[in-house]
Amino acid sequence: MRVLIAEDEIPLARKIASALVEAGHDSVVSNDGEAALSEVANGAFDLIVLDVGLPRLDGFEVLRRLRSQHVPTRVLMLTARGGVDDRITGLQLGADDYLPKPFAMQELVARVAALGRRYAEEPALTLQVADLTLDLANHQTFRDGRAIDLSTREIMLLKVLMREPGRVFTRTELCERVWEHSHEYDTKLVEVFIGRLRKKIGEPSLIHTVRYVGYTIREPA
Ligand code: CA
Repeated sequence: MRVLIAEDEIPLARKIASALVEAGHDSVVSNDGEAALSEVANGAFDLIVLDVGLPRLDGFEVLRRLRSQHVPTRVLMLTARGGVDDRITGLQLGADDYLPKPFAMQELVARVAALGRRYAEEPALTLQVADLTLDLANHQTFRDGRAIDLSTREIMLLKVLMREPGRVFTRTELCERVWEHSHEYDTKLVEVFIGRLRKKIGEPSLIHTVRYVGYTIREPA
């Protein structure tokens, strides 16, 4: 994969770059938010490792601009440890995953690989529930012919639900299937993503809350 590393701590950025190169990826380093945005404008990246605390434009602002320009590149955010609000903010803005600092380099490499693997292994397949279509080959979602912009993570969550319409999934189950590793705040995370999906998919609502159990997708009654 081609990875952009947006990190202003230069020794850390270098360490990340060499760990990724060693794992077989190409990497480019930017030391501030504006430089990161111009790198993205100039070259196609599969993934951005994005530090929240960046000079000029912070990581949230970079992510906000990328998503508002419909750049679908996956984003792994580097957040401060204990910064729960930061993590939720990042995910709400469309980050695919986050890693609290300090982290083990092996974990970063594993997360990068997991984000890439899921993308590569998708079979050519289209899922349909009512007027909602998920084209897994092209990572496109349509409601009644209208295109919906979803992040990689949102697509993964929607895919789990759409593969088995009517089946009720618990929050824990969804977290395990979508994030693989369990997050400390997993139920909150699932709620945030379900909320985002519902908003993007629109009315009539297809994703239903089953009280005390979890969520299901089905045609409106
Ligand atoms: Ca920083």
